Amino acid sequence: MARLKVITEPDPRYAKISPRLRQQSVPVENIDDKLRKLAEDMYETMDAEHGVGLAAPQIGILQRMVVIHIPADYDEDDPEERWLTLVNPEVIKAGGNDIALEGCLSFPDLTGEVPRYKWVNVRGLDLNGQALRFRGRGILARVIQHEIDHLNGVLFFDRMDDWSSLGYPAPEEAEEEEAVIP
Ligand code: ZN
Repeated sequence: MARLKVITEPDPRYAKISPRLRQQSVPVENIDDKLRKLAEDMYETMDAEHGVGLAAPQIGILQRMVVIHIPADYDEDDPEERWLTLVNPEVIKAGGNDIALEGCLSFPDLTGEVPRYKWVNVRGLDLNGQALRFRGRGILARVIQHEIDHLNGVLFFDRMDDWSSLGYPAPEEAEEEEAVIP
């Protein structure tokens, strides 16, 4: 496995975001060993950076694939550990509203309160080309929405109603409310 370089960008309040994270990713056409190796490297990179999700465009590959790793006990409503690779994922139905502190590996330490759907029905493919269809809730639903947004060039602060909560929390605040960092 190899650790990859995650594209990072400056604070969007004060600097212009380069087009690198604003591009549309294309559907994956071949699910092969090359793609499986890329997914492995993405897992290694995400875990090393202590993220819970990573989308291929964040490492400069404009293909519709995301990896998710939610550690055990990360989500108190759903304490099970989850590993998930989604190829060509789509949200086909969503509902409920939830707001929580969220960040992004491409914007180190920046967080904000982001509204998301509470649950999403998702379809896509796994790394063997098998069809996947399931409902994600809670943090998993939040991470899936965040990662699919990356495939469309949408960033977490684009989803905020206003940017009053966007910023770099002081260490003691960060301890009080832990942000979800996909
Ligand atoms: Zn992100």
